[in-house]
Amino acid sequence: MKSITYSEDQLLPISAIAHFCYCERRYALIHLEQLWAENRFTVEGEILHERVHAEHHESRKYFRQEYSMAVRSLAWGLIGKCDLVELWLNKDGSRQKVSPVEFKRGRKKESDVDRVQLCAQALCLEEMLGVTIESGQFYYWQEHRRSDVLIDQALREVTIGLLERIRALQDSGQTPQAEYEKRKCDNCSLVDSCMPKSTNARAKQVERFIQNNLHLIKEL
Ligand code: SF4
Repeated sequence: MKSITYSEDQLLPISAIAHFCYCERRYALIHLEQLWAENRFTVEGEILHERVHAEHHESRKYFRQEYSMAVRSLAWGLIGKCDLVELWLNKDGSRQKVSPVEFKRGRKKESDVDRVQLCAQALCLEEMLGVTIESGQFYYWQEHRRSDVLIDQALREVTIGLLERIRALQDSGQTPQAEYEKRKCDNCSLVDSCMPKSTNARAKQVERFIQNNLHLIKEL
């Protein structure tokens, strides 16, 4: 276990990992410049999570389900919410197994981003509950079925490396330039604020101007 290094106001939201993986500029617009806009995908995600919390809660003698569980880790500097945490108990009441479950729209297609977010939830639960988490699950709403994810060393290393990159961007305070990519920009809720085509073109114009006038700048 890592020693405690982060204070409450330094905690990164687990949801920020998805923004960063989708586009580093998107992360910076939301988390450095405090911009946010909804689109179909963000609204569908919220509706799904509301439905999750209205679902059946199961509780037996040695098994419990906790929906919408707030989690955090001061060691890893993370804060967030698990859609569902399942806990299996031993007869003496101690925890035998803990597993986070993340609900997804549509069919099975989890990406590394999804796995990293699940791993971040597991890191928080391990610190909060004093357990080791070996696996989690995704639940696919459209298919009504679950898929297992191993929280192994490789996934932990990817997650920790990503957290370091996010913190480096956060500490730099610099919003990266826009790079227009049809596939991601056309589905991004921030496209109107970001203006990836024009901001990219403007940045290139400035760069060209500097290159063309480098000799003048050197003479100054
Ligand atoms: S519009 Fe494109 S470049 Fe801009 S934040 Fe969204 S994904 Fe990133």
